[in-house]
Amino acid sequence: MKAAKLSHNGLEAVLEHNGRTERLLVKDYPYIKGFEPVFAQFCAFHLLAPHLPKNVISNFPISNPMIKLINKMYSFEGEPSPRISSPKVNIAGIPFKTSNDKAVISYSAGKDSMWNLWWAQEEFGKDNVLAAHISGLNRSNSSDETRYALRQSKKFDFSLEMLQLCNGSGGKGYQVMRSRDMFMVGILIPYALNFGASNIIIEGFGEDVRSSEPFTGHEQNMLLFNKTLKEMNIPIRVKWRNRKEMDVVKDLYINKPDWMSEVCNCFSPSHYKIALHNSWERRTPSIRLYDSQCGSCVKCRIINIGRILYDPNFEATEEDITYYIKSTEKWYAEHKITHNDMIGGSFLEALTKAAKIHDIDLSKI
Ligand SMILES: [Zn+2]
Repeated sequence: MKAAKLSHNGLEAVLEHNGRTERLLVKDYPYIKGFEPVFAQFCAFHLLAPHLPKNVISNFPISNPMIKLINKMYSFEGEPSPRISSPKVNIAGIPFKTSNDKAVISYSAGKDSMWNLWWAQEEFGKDNVLAAHISGLNRSNSSDETRYALRQSKKFDFSLEMLQLCNGSGGKGYQVMRSRDMFMVGILIPYALNFGASNIIIEGFGEDVRSSEPFTGHEQNMLLFNKTLKEMNIPIRVKWRNRKEMDVVKDLYINKPDWMSEVCNCFSPSHYKIALHNSWERRTPSIRLYDSQCGSCVKCRIINIGRILYDPNFEATEEDITYYIKSTEKWYAEHKITHNDMIGGSFLEALTKAAKIHDIDLSKI
């Protein structure tokens, strides 16, 4: 098989493999001297991940720490290390001064981002926290996420940077997690350097991690990634807190109840979302779904069961609450296998608790 070819030009990187061309490009980026060669390496990592080609020819240097990380990803996915041929040039790293008292949050507009924003503001002070949203990272619901990130920043008055990513990488679905979370941190580095922050905050690893989880979904690999950043002389480290999914929802309802109406987590595509949202208005008229919600997908059910349990301002008829809990129990029975990667243990605990409080016998459903 022919070798995969990597090339880069400024803030664009390209992979040619098996007759296909995949491209990553960012626009309106803060200028950081010496960052372009570093940017290219994170792109290499992300472009190779979906295909894991055995032979790679790169027209730009890939440093030893990055090659070690790429090898680790291959071996984690059960593949031998690739043969990478690239120019041997020393990459100097980025001699920048950053402070451990400041942080940038990788911000998607979902509940985990909001939760990170809440605790980071408590820990570092509001002025020392910057949210940065990558528009185009998740291709399926990217425009909603971007819209809600902007809405939230206006409504809740926090600083937000918006990075436009033209994302032509071949990573899709669950497998995108092989490289996504490390790539995401890599391309946010200029924002952190400009802001003077040494921390980039990402979603934690709160639920029990399944062995099937791809490379960047494992905490020990993120620890390894912090070593890679250090070896690349980049004055940034990734930071996260681990909290179970339903506890994240609970913390937000207790500490920032007004934020939750703006949460953007829904998985349904826009054309289904409106129909589903309207159908819930007929079935459970007293439960007012949030604007972003379809009410039926895994993400909406997680939020709404949390809302029934923890929202101090939640009001609905007992009949509608019972209907929603029963429907969610039926949905759970049907989806627990296919949604195994998205439903943590804490969801079933919360659902059981909600049924108990509202006197519903789940064994009879
Ligand atoms: Zn939904």
